[in-house]
Amino acid sequence: MEVLVGCRVIVPFGRSKYYTAIVSRIHTEKPEGYTVKPVLEQIDTAPILLPTQLKLWEWMADYYLCSLGDVYKAALPSGLKLESDGEEIIGGFKPKEEVRVRLASEYQSEEALHALFDQLAKTPKRLDLLMRWLELSCYFSGDIKEVSKHWLMSDVNASVSAFNGLVSKGIFQTYMVEVGRLSSGSADKSFVRHKLNASQSLALQQITAIFQQKNVCLLHGVTSSGKTEVYIHLIEQALQEGKQVLYLLPEIALTTQVTKRLQLVFGEKLGIYHSKFSDNERVEVWRKQLSDEPFEIILGVRSSIFLPFQRLGLVIVDEEHENTYKQQDPAPRYHARNAAIMLAHMVGAKTLLGTATPSIESWYNATIARKYGLVQLMERYQALQLPEVRAVDIQELRHKKLMHGTFSPQLLNAMRDAIEQGEQVILFQNRRGFAQLMECHTCGWIPRCVNCDVTLTYHRAQNQLVCHYCGYSITPPQACPACGDTDIRGIGAGTERVEDELKTYFPGVKIARMDLDTTQSKSSYERIIHDFEEGKTQVLIGTQMISKGLDFGNVSVVGILNADLMLNYPDFRAYERAFQLMEQVAGRAGRKHKQGLVILQTSDVKHPIIHQVRQNDYQGMVQMQLDERQHFHYPPYYRMVYVYLKHRNAQLLDQMAETMATKLRVLFGSRVLGPDRPPVSKVQKMFIRKIMLKFEAAASHSRIRTLLMQVQQEMLANDKFKSLTVYYDVDPA
Ligand code: ADP
Ligand code: ZN
Ligand code: ZN
Repeated sequence: MEVLVGCRVIVPFGRSKYYTAIVSRIHTEKPEGYTVKPVLEQIDTAPILLPTQLKLWEWMADYYLCSLGDVYKAALPSGLKLESDGEEIIGGFKPKEEVRVRLASEYQSEEALHALFDQLAKTPKRLDLLMRWLELSCYFSGDIKEVSKHWLMSDVNASVSAFNGLVSKGIFQTYMVEVGRLSSGSADKSFVRHKLNASQSLALQQITAIFQQKNVCLLHGVTSSGKTEVYIHLIEQALQEGKQVLYLLPEIALTTQVTKRLQLVFGEKLGIYHSKFSDNERVEVWRKQLSDEPFEIILGVRSSIFLPFQRLGLVIVDEEHENTYKQQDPAPRYHARNAAIMLAHMVGAKTLLGTATPSIESWYNATIARKYGLVQLMERYQALQLPEVRAVDIQELRHKKLMHGTFSPQLLNAMRDAIEQGEQVILFQNRRGFAQLMECHTCGWIPRCVNCDVTLTYHRAQNQLVCHYCGYSITPPQACPACGDTDIRGIGAGTERVEDELKTYFPGVKIARMDLDTTQSKSSYERIIHDFEEGKTQVLIGTQMISKGLDFGNVSVVGILNADLMLNYPDFRAYERAFQLMEQVAGRAGRKHKQGLVILQTSDVKHPIIHQVRQNDYQGMVQMQLDERQHFHYPPYYRMVYVYLKHRNAQLLDQMAETMATKLRVLFGSRVLGPDRPPVSKVQKMFIRKIMLKFEAAASHSRIRTLLMQVQQEMLANDKFKSLTVYYDVDPA
């Protein structure tokens, strides 16, 4: 068989190990320094990897300072990677079967079912599951539907032991069904395309004109201006030209609503690729994209940039400012927006970046560097008004003892009015990671770092206040240095506490909570959204998940419970993020004939970001941030690279980090900062240190790469240091 580039082959490693590899180049140059082994077998008869994919992998490994193997691991679904320790090559693709659940026939009469209810009254979890089955199967409608076990058990409260109990008692029966994995929604033939209004058509024309000259265009459109409608028209144009489209979304958070809309328009042409897909589902999509009948449009999350595209013509990056486009761990730590632009560039496709709040980088690229075109869509569809944003001083209210826990009287009143009129409320509580601040409850004093302009973060386990930039740390003071009071507390009520509090103020009102804890499965996420859309719940409490692209028609009040948490986050992007988040959340408020109201609770009403959010002053925010970034040498004026060092022994690690920083200083001088302890400085018994590098935007990447690799090699060549792990985060976000 002829060996082809892009095909998988099985290669021997050591004595008895076999790996799959991908042929990247065929040549006749004799390798030096090692003996070659024969390829055992070629698995594929046709390439599973297209030449541009390999090119993207190579770019990614080079730019993000990782190995090609790291990219390979992230890019290829594991079903396509066969690995083994012995004779047998394991893994591979299996047709999908699904477990379904039915109610045993002897219970399918009214009498028997009632007897069963009585019997299960003592085991409420079993009763719950039965009730859920009855609901999902539409039992009482007479037209009983099949229920998959997966669906039945996707409820957060569903108990596995209760399920097993019902099966062993013969109440539930399970059976297997073979199902095709790619559920493609069919287009509703009766669906009429929306006609663009005047400003949307103009935007479409401008984008098309820009694509004649530039590869990338930034569409800055306020929330509900109809960006998605513009995307749909652009996609149609691309399809007419016989091109494929990649539509990127930050997280599954967006998929349900946007998916429905795109499915209505594009039906079976649309393929979906998201993070909750099983590996087999990924393999199916991958294979389909290599076939003669690929999906013409892929709607997917960040990893869909790795899919094979045969004639990609357009990439849309929706909500381009979202930082979840950046992969944090493991390598490759890539930014999907930037990688998508690179992918498009490699195949001669165009990229559209869309958002209501452009990232500072993209704004800079569009307006100052003029690498991208810029199109703005500044009015909401049907002249829907932007909401009124009222800032409420919680510091003052606390002083006057008027705060009800997390809630100001203003917010409670606005909520009461809305609920009485049958309208809905969204409450936003941001709580990023483990970060917790301390604050003097009397005067609002917040401990800050003596070296850096950031607040200190409280680490409960060590009882320390720590600076995430320089590592400075102190024990929390007994008394406030500003007012002498001893009432110093951690701030940052979680969503769960907010929910409990709310139940006491609004008994009987249906409240839903959406955060990482309540959305473990895709279906629970969808159910929360669905119930809110249908008006089954009146108040939705959530983390940043709710800020993303959701479109509800009946929300009149949005409450931002504590803006301080966002503003005080120790990161140079904190203000930009806070603005983006608050704008996005505020954008959920407003109905057809009524201006929405946003109550923004903060103890710093005079903060410039608060002012900018109230005025909806995006440009004011950008200008101020750009000035600061330039002044303090941050992106987009400078490029940042974090060097991470990892080791089991903290003392030795500190020594290694110092040595490495010294070596780097010799080469890069004052561009080197640190070493510091990163916010999470110990993971799985490994200690971590961070060295920060800031390069001028114009500095040569390949030169930087060469020097960094050289230093790394020098470090590892030292016998004492050879157990050190080094990795990089380029353009950290
Ligand atoms: P964005 O993506 O900018 O937030 P959307 O595209 O979601 O805005 O539009 C907001 C709402 O207005 C959606 O419900 C959408 O269906 C509706 N809409 C926008 N433009 C049109 C149009 N030209 N015709 C009909 N409905 C539209
Ligand atoms: Zn105080
Ligand atoms: Zn500091």
